[in-house]
Amino acid sequence: MKVRCTYCGAEFEVPDTVKTTTCPYCALTLTVKAPGEVEAAAVDHFYFPTTSLDPYRSLMNFVRREYGVPSDVEASSSLEKRELHYVPIYFFHVKGRLEVEDPDRRVTYAEEGIFCPLIAMRRNRMFDVLRNHIFAVRGRRFFEESVKRKGVFHEPVFDREEAHKRVRDALIRALRDEARANARKFRVRSEELHIEYRGLVHYPIWYLTYRYQDRSYEAYVDGADGRVILAEYPQTSVARAIQIGLAIAFLAAGGIIGGILALLMNTIYTVITGLITGGVAAIPLLVRGARRKARSSEVFELEEKLQSPFFRALYRK
Ligand SMILES: [Zn+2]
Repeated sequence: MKVRCTYCGAEFEVPDTVKTTTCPYCALTLTVKAPGEVEAAAVDHFYFPTTSLDPYRSLMNFVRREYGVPSDVEASSSLEKRELHYVPIYFFHVKGRLEVEDPDRRVTYAEEGIFCPLIAMRRNRMFDVLRNHIFAVRGRRFFEESVKRKGVFHEPVFDREEAHKRVRDALIRALRDEARANARKFRVRSEELHIEYRGLVHYPIWYLTYRYQDRSYEAYVDGADGRVILAEYPQTSVARAIQIGLAIAFLAAGGIIGGILALLMNTIYTVITGLITGGVAAIPLLVRGARRKARSSEVFELEEKLQSPFFRALYRK
């Protein structure tokens, strides 16, 4: 059946048997009253059930397709540790609009409208891995006490009011930053902030370590849908040599092209820009090639593109 979100008006399809659902656009959780009829749910604490996918399987399926991985990685690795963590995340839907006037009386606007997860755990390694993650929205369920016994359960380290304050501050800063990009000096004409609480979600994250030959490698897997958030894996010495060789080739090419241009244009600067350009291409390859462990993610590349001024402001300290 089709339902319409009572907050943002979006229409979407839900299975007929479902009692609650979450709007895929603004994350409002809705209770189904009658077929096609919904209202905002009164409960605001949720959890995500884990998928039936084995996280170590998901990890190996991902790792064996990565560049430079030994062909026996799957056959010769063994799982060392498998921990399920329930990470507390406050969800908000935020909208903001700032109207500013520059010294020439030109009026410009800054706008943000974003669905925002705020991780409420200590700043540790897991926090750093998760801060760029895009969490699943649909499929959350009302919280049950039994979830606390399913894994390592993390209580939120700050409350809902504090979360609201952080999101609000981040929104204000993001709008100011955006306005500043249009005009260096400005006067605020009006400011509108809408911050809608979408509940606390305990989100499942797998922490895995596995052994390949004499070393241990770690990984984080999204428990709700099996995506590999971050994985370390071994790379062959051939792959490492190729990456270092490529890095040297990029540097050399930059230098040679710069040198030719230098002769043609009678200046030394093209050599420097040539080397810098080559260096920009070479450094990531050098860093990767120098390590025995490589790391990559199924989600990060996409997410960096989605990083908005708002998210940069949210975790800024
Ligand atoms: Zn909605």
